[in-house]
Amino acid sequence: MDDGGSARLATGTPVAGRNRQLEALQQVSAAAATVLDPQQLARVALDETLRILGAERALMFLLDEAGNPVPYAGRGAGGEDLTETTTYGASLVQRVADTHEALVVTSTEQGAALGSRSTVAYGLRSILVAPVRFKGATLGIVYLDSRLARGIFTDDDVAVLTAVTSHVAVSLETARAAQLHLAVRAAQQQQAFSEMLRAGLAELSAIQDPGQVLRALFAMLVSRVGADAGCLVTDGVIEVAGGADPAMLGGPPPDGVFGLRVPLESPEGRVGEVLLGAETFDDTARQVAAALVAQGMIAYDNARLFSRVQELATTDALTGLHNRRHFHALAGALIDAAARGGRGLAAAMLDIDKFKSINDTYGHGVGDEVIRTVASRIGAVIRRADVLGRYGGEEFAVVLPDHDGLAVSLAERVRAAVAAEPVLTAAGPIPVTISVGLAELDPLDSLDRVLARADHALYRAKEGGRNRVAIS
Ligand code: GH3
Ligand code: MG
Ligand code: MG
Repeated sequence: MDDGGSARLATGTPVAGRNRQLEALQQVSAAAATVLDPQQLARVALDETLRILGAERALMFLLDEAGNPVPYAGRGAGGEDLTETTTYGASLVQRVADTHEALVVTSTEQGAALGSRSTVAYGLRSILVAPVRFKGATLGIVYLDSRLARGIFTDDDVAVLTAVTSHVAVSLETARAAQLHLAVRAAQQQQAFSEMLRAGLAELSAIQDPGQVLRALFAMLVSRVGADAGCLVTDGVIEVAGGADPAMLGGPPPDGVFGLRVPLESPEGRVGEVLLGAETFDDTARQVAAALVAQGMIAYDNARLFSRVQELATTDALTGLHNRRHFHALAGALIDAAARGGRGLAAAMLDIDKFKSINDTYGHGVGDEVIRTVASRIGAVIRRADVLGRYGGEEFAVVLPDHDGLAVSLAERVRAAVAAEPVLTAAGPIPVTISVGLAELDPLDSLDRVLARADHALYRAKEGGRNRVAIS
């Protein structure tokens, strides 16, 4: 028995206590072998401790990062869980957390002197508080208390408790490491997921055509989500991957045919949807799909914006033809290619005859209609490889690569096509003609030089009476 009335720091392990330690360890080891949940194991350890040491309450606290005790498990002598644990010996527990030394309190007075209000409030007589240590570090605190009538804690008890708690500490630490491992794995998966998204966005962002972005996103969804079959529906157009038969579908498939239906939403509204089929789709598949689509639609919007800006920068709004700057870029490339390949190329300047009078007679709006129709008549005659641009107000320029000597007849056909019938306008049919100046590319010609010679020929066509082709 203890001499009472003193609070001592626990020291060594008396030989007499070994049997009880062994007994307690055996019990806790047996429990540890079957109990995997560390909190459950802590309960078992506390129950064994209560039983062996004749305590009434046993509490376990874990130290948080700041070293403060946080309640982890609490058990009463009746085998009940104690939920209201914070009021018991908080100051004593904190003291052990600070000193990392076990503490035995053997009288109410001593507890009060040590600053414990609860020893007084609950009329307790004996308290044992010990650190739970693992490899030299204090992981937590175990607190036991007992009414004096049930016995006084001794140094032996400290040793028993320490033996039991170090056992619990091992499994706590193992569990903690396992949880850490899980956290690391989750982080790694998260990183792989982010990397997948980043790579996906990079791939999609490199595509400039919005429709192509959607098709690439669709292919990515099918492969990343692990679908057996898929279907991309945009503007009523259906694209299919996997085993699905588009002819069989004949339209967007009804709900339930595919497992996953992913709407493709852009800020300007719904663009379409992707339907994916597989045996089952889990939450991960849904999350991957949602994240990919979110990224994909950013790329889609960028591509659409890009193509709009591109169009504005290269296209003449009235006629839809290449504007002068873009014509220069395209025609310049054709001339370089022709010069490199030693092939023939012709350039023509085309100008609407007496256009000022059309404007003056019918107004600017009708003039615009005429320009538009003339542009489309020219465009309908030239070949696919030819490059046609709106060069000025009612002037057009065209470059005819690889014309094989047919440039003159082509120019003549263009002229004839414009003159063939009156242009239908809001002011009625208006007869319209054009004059054409044609020049063949000379060696060492630049685009500007060949166009200048074509322009000179155009001037002669005008002088010669208009509605004709003149050759430089
Ligand atoms: P010519 O047969 O010698 O070419 O006579 P023309 O009257 O066509 O003479 P010119 O080519 O010099 O006149 C072009 C006119 O086209 C002048 C301008 O007011 C008009 N114009 C220029 N751009 C536009 C346009 O975008 N819309 C309309 N409606 N008129 C334009
Ligand atoms: Mg003109
Ligand atoms: Mg003119």
